Amino acid sequence: MVEVENITFGYAAGGFRLRVPHLSLADGERLAIVGPSGSGKTTLLNLIAGILTPETGRITVAGTEVSALPDAGRRRFRASRIGFVFQDFALLDYLTARQNILYPYRITPALKLDAAARARADALARACGIGDKLDRHPAALSQGEQQRVAICRALVTQPRLVLSDEATGNLDPESKARILDLLFAQAAEAGASVLAVTHDHELLPRFQRVLDFATYREPVS
Ligand code: ADP
Ligand code: MG
Repeated sequence: MVEVENITFGYAAGGFRLRVPHLSLADGERLAIVGPSGSGKTTLLNLIAGILTPETGRITVAGTEVSALPDAGRRRFRASRIGFVFQDFALLDYLTARQNILYPYRITPALKLDAAARARADALARACGIGDKLDRHPAALSQGEQQRVAICRALVTQPRLVLSDEATGNLDPESKARILDLLFAQAAEAGASVLAVTHDHELLPRFQRVLDFATYREPVS
């Protein structure tokens, strides 16, 4: 599902450099990435999602070389194939929960907002326990509920790959496990692979493989 080969990346501001010799993720696999703060975990997710592009090397997702696509192509590819659960949820306050979940359809002409997509949004929300809160705005939802909205939004387009950046970060231990299980269940149903950055070591047994990111990092020069 994901092949990362020999990539290097540095921000324009300088300082931090990331080098990943090799990383692969199988179809349907659940991989956790752990590692110290500032080691480049978010940077790697952004590279795989095509939000950033590597200076050298290749990144392939579901058979498409994302790192070789032009900007517009990468955006289209991301919208149709990748679900991203951001650390801070990134929900839009002026939209209801349902509108937030369906947001990918607003911004991506290639995605058609039809009855099936609407039904999927509602079914996902019910499965995540927020079926009765779809008309509320994020401000009227708890952190855990906002997190579920973000997960539903990442899954509604039936992506092949779900990237999750410390999505369970600020929840109590019981909610963390429940939310992650929900994410896994929904991803499994859609046949998606999951790559999740997490600080929650108690959640690691739920993954098939754990990668300690510290070993992939080139020292800051
Ligand atoms: P992690 O997610 O593992 O905490 P990040 O990938 O967010 O680490 O950041 C890795 C390093 O890159 C940090 O030193 C951070 O300060 C730096 N960094 C992150 N984003 C930018 C940016 N937009 N411009 C310059 N440096 C950045
Ligand atoms: Mg991060």
